[in-house]
Amino acid sequence: MLKKEFKRKDVERMRNLIKGKSGESSELQVGYTGKKEDHKEGDIWEEGGKRWTIKDGIKQTATKLDKVKKEAILPLFCPNCKGLMKKQHDPKMYKIHKMCFDCVIDMEAKLKLKGKFEEYERNMISKNAEAYLNDLEQYLLEAINTSNTQYVSEQGEVERWKGGIDKEKFTKKMKEDFIKFRKQIDDYKQNKTDD
Ligand SMILES: [Zn+2]
Repeated sequence: MLKKEFKRKDVERMRNLIKGKSGESSELQVGYTGKKEDHKEGDIWEEGGKRWTIKDGIKQTATKLDKVKKEAILPLFCPNCKGLMKKQHDPKMYKIHKMCFDCVIDMEAKLKLKGKFEEYERNMISKNAEAYLNDLEQYLLEAINTSNTQYVSEQGEVERWKGGIDKEKFTKKMKEDFIKFRKQIDDYKQNKTDD
């Protein structure tokens, strides 16, 4: 749906900019001091007053993971119809709509009757894309500020730099890209495109 304006390739490129190999024990180089910390995937430790972890080979703050965990907790009953949430699609629907799958079906049917479905769908897709971009941005900023030693090129080759990455240049380019992405989402939301 957002295929044309919100190019997956661009996002993948951004995502791959700084990425280690998951599952490997990471030997992290902190700053330029040459101080080495041995941590592996899934470890959680304290450093500089923050909790850190390694996920998919990337060192990142653990608070983000805590938040994700908290949001994933599914209540026993649907807040809307008070029915027991035990169906296959309930967890996913609850995460998005804060109600059970049946209630979502109901709501969408009503929107269709009122001719409001297309607008609703656009809003949902845009919201989803925005949330994804926000996560991606935070992830990249964290990665830029915590990883000095490796970089995955557009071709997927891992490059290791002795001097560290040019954070300023990188952040600037990233911000330009994100402005572009957000504009594309906004255009889509307002139905300015023919897709
Ligand atoms: Zn319900």
